[in-house]
Amino acid sequence: MKKYNFSAGPSILPRVTMEKTAEAIMDFNGIGLSIMEISHRSKDFQVVIDEAVALFKELLDIPEGYSILFLGGGASLQFCMVPYNLLEKKAAYLNTGTWANKALKEAKLFGEAVEVASSKEANYSYIPKDYVVPADADYFHITTNNTIFGTELHTDIDSPVPLVADMSSDIFSRPLDVSKYALIYGGAQKNLAPAGVTFVIVKEDVLGKVSRPIPSMLDYRIHIKNGSMFNTPPVVPIFAALQTLRWLKELGGVKAIEKINIDKAARLYDEIDRNRLFKGPAAEEDRSFMNVCFVMEDEYKELEPEFLDFAVKRGMSGIKGHRSVGGFRASIYNAMPVEGVQALIDCMQDFEKQK
Ligand SMILES: *Cc1c(COP(=O)(O)O)cnc(C)c1O
Repeated sequence: MKKYNFSAGPSILPRVTMEKTAEAIMDFNGIGLSIMEISHRSKDFQVVIDEAVALFKELLDIPEGYSILFLGGGASLQFCMVPYNLLEKKAAYLNTGTWANKALKEAKLFGEAVEVASSKEANYSYIPKDYVVPADADYFHITTNNTIFGTELHTDIDSPVPLVADMSSDIFSRPLDVSKYALIYGGAQKNLAPAGVTFVIVKEDVLGKVSRPIPSMLDYRIHIKNGSMFNTPPVVPIFAALQTLRWLKELGGVKAIEKINIDKAARLYDEIDRNRLFKGPAAEEDRSFMNVCFVMEDEYKELEPEFLDFAVKRGMSGIKGHRSVGGFRASIYNAMPVEGVQALIDCMQDFEKQK
């Protein structure tokens, strides 16, 4: 049976990413050694990281003055690295869910962290729009895609202070105006690579402004100076990320994938809205194109375990919703083919016919 991986993360990757990485694990570039056992400072690996950086710049149209880093520690380490490097007195945070909360919590260790708005009272089913960012904040932090609650900011917002974004789960899903951001970061395991590498896109001139001493491993400037090789970077995940980036370029880049993503999401949301058994908890204009959350209508609530079982038996893997929303969550990242989305829709329709 064909299986479709709808997991939220680690998640589906292009087949070619797996194939090329498997090949390189056995014999990298035909040198007779595995990518797992060569020096990160070897010429062969330098070529890999250089091309990955170049493709970040090309695919996201990153302007001059930004550096791209490949680090360890996950997005969660960035929750602390961002304030460590940028927060002198005060920072502003938009609270749009679990990850935004975790970021805010870390910032409080470094200074005043203001929550400018929150949608907590509605279980994070929408993204607050009316708020004021304090003009004296050192930066404003947002989470562009809320992986758990299925909401997403579909545009690059304006901010009166340097804008910092956690884009763990929607990077490379659409074109970005990078010039509007001071810093963008994310764990790679949602849309790019296996877990283990974290990307950071940082505008160099926002650094060096805080008075606290910064430990070397947490100092962006040290990593920039060393080309992400201050210590050993996650070699294999970086290699895998490069394969995904090549795949994306081949496909036509972020403009092309955005079109596909909008189409996939529209099909699934249309079915959720049409099907009498299901409904989507996220506000319509904020619906995520990456993580599609849906639950059963109240009168059918008790059917949830039955539908889950039905779908799993038909090859739908990883659609159980996060415990904080319940129901179902279909993560339809870049690598999810439209056939996968259609297979899930067929499942929902066949289940409805039985009821
Ligand atoms: C998954 C996720 C994280 C956590 O990433 P780690 O790499 O596991 O630390 C943070 N933010 C968002 C939006 C996520 O989806």
